[in-house]
Amino acid sequence: MSMYIMMVAPEMAPVAKVGGLGDVVLGLSRELEIRGHAVEVVLPLYDCMRYDHIWGLQVTHPDLWVPWGAGAVRCTVWFGFVHGRKCFFIEPHSPENFFNRGGYYGFPDEHIRWSFFSKAALEFLLQSGKRPDVIHTHDWQTGLVAPLLFEIYKHQGLERQRVCHTIHNFKHQGICGPNVLDLTGLKRHDYYYSRDRLGDDYDPTAINLAKGAVVYANFVTTVSPRHAWEARFTEQGHGLGPVLTTHQAKFGGVLNGLDYEMWNPQTDPHIPHHYDAAAVDGKFADKEALRERLWLRKDYSPIVAYVGRLDPQKGLDLVRHGLYYALERGAQFVLLGSSPEQGINAHFWDIKRQMNDNPDCHLEIGYDEELAHLIYAGADILMVPSLFEPCGLTQMIALRYGTVPVVREVGGLADTVFDKDHSDRPREGRNGFTFRDPDHAGLESALSRAIGLWYDYPDQFRELMENGMHFDYSWNWPGQNYVNIYDYIRHK
Ligand code: ADP
Repeated sequence: MSMYIMMVAPEMAPVAKVGGLGDVVLGLSRELEIRGHAVEVVLPLYDCMRYDHIWGLQVTHPDLWVPWGAGAVRCTVWFGFVHGRKCFFIEPHSPENFFNRGGYYGFPDEHIRWSFFSKAALEFLLQSGKRPDVIHTHDWQTGLVAPLLFEIYKHQGLERQRVCHTIHNFKHQGICGPNVLDLTGLKRHDYYYSRDRLGDDYDPTAINLAKGAVVYANFVTTVSPRHAWEARFTEQGHGLGPVLTTHQAKFGGVLNGLDYEMWNPQTDPHIPHHYDAAAVDGKFADKEALRERLWLRKDYSPIVAYVGRLDPQKGLDLVRHGLYYALERGAQFVLLGSSPEQGINAHFWDIKRQMNDNPDCHLEIGYDEELAHLIYAGADILMVPSLFEPCGLTQMIALRYGTVPVVREVGGLADTVFDKDHSDRPREGRNGFTFRDPDHAGLESALSRAIGLWYDYPDQFRELMENGMHFDYSWNWPGQNYVNIYDYIRHK
């Protein structure tokens, strides 16, 4: 049966994207619509959005008054299509200028901005008569939607709505003081400060918006099954483990999907030669194109690549070690990445300078969408040695492009890459190499097997490439999973 889903999110690709959350909101919304469900998305109207990706932007609700503290804030609600998705953008007219700040995040009043947005989204549903079956919220920024719905809006007309909340990143939780409660109308401090509601588990003077979402939502997901386990039982939950355990019956991991339209080696406009699992030769031509583009020597050797943010989360010491180790083992190495931190960039610039005359190595420090596509197509091996990785997209892209991933067995990497030698899956279900310990020996144990296989058993290497290309990491499965979750909470 067809459902009506309202996404409430701080980001959606490509109009307002900071990271993977934005991709999920777009990809999942599209998949749900393909399956015949009605989807709408509520976002803030940011001044810094990519307006060129919005079609037909127009005012639909000029006067949405949102109760706020002792008064109310007038908002204008805009409507527009973003890549076919129906989006409502909320523009508050208040002196704080919540979303006109030239950036998406990083302001001192983050918890107030986002609590306002959460409240405004519900007020919009209430006043516009929209009654979705499920409201799907994303990360702590929209964490207050579920508490507000069930404590206030349920009694005002939104009595049948259900909430699914997805945690993309456990590190940020919206830990703040009581003014958020006063402003949003959650007036009984003692009640909300209780540890079984919004009270932070570690700081008795604070409330925790991410925790509030876990407590109040009808279902809570994170972005891979392995990360769901890690969040409960390891430090990767950043303190939310106990509350997730209390609510374990409504918590689970759903792997993110990959946008199979954007990442498709048969049609990718950024690569010179197209290919697929049945005819993989185009990939070898792309490898030569990659070498030409990066001035790498044309030789009989595998290309090992790293693509990603240069963030400590990604295991940067292992990235660097992998570079030297790959060269030592007779492979070529390509890196594409950047960091907002100058120190980290400078470190990789030093390595780049050191490697300046090496015809087997290229570091590209910066963000380059087009080059990323060519690297996924042209490389033989992609290395992802992350310390933690909630889901991870690069290994899924690599698989789709017939590039064999070498990954640390953590988070979504562990759910998507299955070791050629050690996995308990049947042979055709194995698609790469994994290692457990985040140290040099661990990385070498996997990378050496990958490079060795390329040189010594090219037929087996090719089989592994083709296996990877046959996996389905599109939104197909995750989409079905979310439909099941929505359906389940709707009938509870
Ligand atoms: P995270 O969300 O932690 O950054 P993911 O693996 O989930 O990591 O997603 C990373 C995405 O960003 C991939 O699509 C990858 O290709 C892209 N990406 C990361 N760094 C760069 C870069 N320097 N240039 C181009 N694309 C990049």
